[in-house]
Amino acid sequence: MTIYSIAIDGPSGSGKSTLAKALAEKLNIDYLDTGAMYRAFAYFVITEGFDIHDEKALMELLSKFSIDFSQGHILLNGENIEGHIRTQEIDMAASIVSTFRMVREKMVDLQQRLAESKSMILDGRDIGTVVLPHAKYKFYITARPEIRAKRRLLQMNSSNTDYDEIYNQILKRDNQDMTRKNSPLKKAEDAILIDTSDETPEDTLYRILEIIQREV
Ligand code: C5P
Repeated sequence: MTIYSIAIDGPSGSGKSTLAKALAEKLNIDYLDTGAMYRAFAYFVITEGFDIHDEKALMELLSKFSIDFSQGHILLNGENIEGHIRTQEIDMAASIVSTFRMVREKMVDLQQRLAESKSMILDGRDIGTVVLPHAKYKFYITARPEIRAKRRLLQMNSSNTDYDEIYNQILKRDNQDMTRKNSPLKKAEDAILIDTSDETPEDTLYRILEIIQREV
């Protein structure tokens, strides 16, 4: 059986994780949410009481950081932290720790090792450009910022967050992720651009499945 990878990149709220999960199920292969790894590290730094901008502390903490995946949940040093890493605080903190080169090197190494021995879908910001430049399929998923903000608001499902706040945070995080020095978010030249603004998740899934099946 041939091993292949699918790289899915794009900004927050573009629908890439929903797509990646559904696609993995349809194709019966594994899915790795690489954003969850940066989130887990940001959560670790904060719970250990350190400043997420403190490069020296981040380097030290990297050596104590161990993550695992069990049935779609992320385990940090053995503990299931899925319920703690999808907050607005961690959104921004993950975006900051992910700017540091050493942090990226560790995550990329883990991601490449995981994808080496089996067919997988990875979603993130640098999958098609850095992590898996030779992935068989590459997609860059995007949507208009106002649509992404609405989706994010629904996901957060919290009564004390408002649309404008989320919208501004999305723009800030886009800017941070797209302009950083190390592995900025950008479309790989050979990635297929998919705009999900006016589609349901099912529309996107079937559009992508069609592309994949056409190429098989
Ligand atoms: O995808 P998600 O929103 O969970 O990612 C959280 C943050 O982690 C992103 O804003 C980005 O800064 C960072 N990230 C990254 N590279 C990846 C995945 C996520 O820099 N491959």
